[in-house]
Amino acid sequence: MSEPKTKCSECGRSILQRTADKRNGLCAPCHNDAEFRAEMFAPDNFLGFPGHLAERLRKIGLEPHDYRDWAWQEQQRSSAVASEALERLVEHLEDRAANYREWFPKLREYADECQRQQPFVHDWALDCAQSAQQSIYLEKLDAQAPAASTHSIAVCCMPIIGISAVSEKSRTLDLEDSALVFLTPEEFAHWNSIYPRPESDYWWNIDNDPDPNNYPDLQLDGISENESAWLVDAGVCWNPASGATELWATGELWAWNGQSVRHVAELWRDMS
Ligand SMILES: [Zn+2]
Repeated sequence: MSEPKTKCSECGRSILQRTADKRNGLCAPCHNDAEFRAEMFAPDNFLGFPGHLAERLRKIGLEPHDYRDWAWQEQQRSSAVASEALERLVEHLEDRAANYREWFPKLREYADECQRQQPFVHDWALDCAQSAQQSIYLEKLDAQAPAASTHSIAVCCMPIIGISAVSEKSRTLDLEDSALVFLTPEEFAHWNSIYPRPESDYWWNIDNDPDPNNYPDLQLDGISENESAWLVDAGVCWNPASGATELWATGELWAWNGQSVRHVAELWRDMS
């Protein structure tokens, strides 16, 4: 005997009555989707920040309405009283704003100093291989452009030929209340040795002559005799003031034949 069936009230897919009874009339995917949305997005009747907290947000230039969903998520996640969870969120945003205001001018000053020490490289000074690498850096930066979020600084790390392709004027991209700063890996390492890390950093690097000892997974089968291997690696490291560091990275194998490059293989993904 076959079990009674019905239709998902959201997408119309045919489902067992038993499933519908258990999941509010929805199929499993729609039910998961609804749960996810309920967790992420504040319902209309959510009151949001009480007046005195809303006022504190406005004081640091934030519009409380823009943080409604975040407030909702915090409140649900927190075992503390709802108002305490919101208070903590406001404190976090205040810290972030203070951090940004304190550190961004210093980082900009440092980037300007780096620029004086190591000016941009002009197109005409690049050899063929460097031009090809420059296009790869630009492509990677496009594909993985750091999203600007308020009061955050992302450091974008790449060699000077990559940075030169991004900007002709400044190492700093001053966005509205957030910033991207372009540094070479050496400059960034130096910055990190003196100052605390920014909220997130991104890197792009091409290794012209990858040593298989350093990359146990590296297979060079796809590279022919008249080509050389380029290892293109890109990643981002988030270091939110509130929690653990997260790392995301990709590696790609490219082949250079002296005139042009071709993508050979993806090597790794998600190293977190
Ligand atoms: Zn459905």
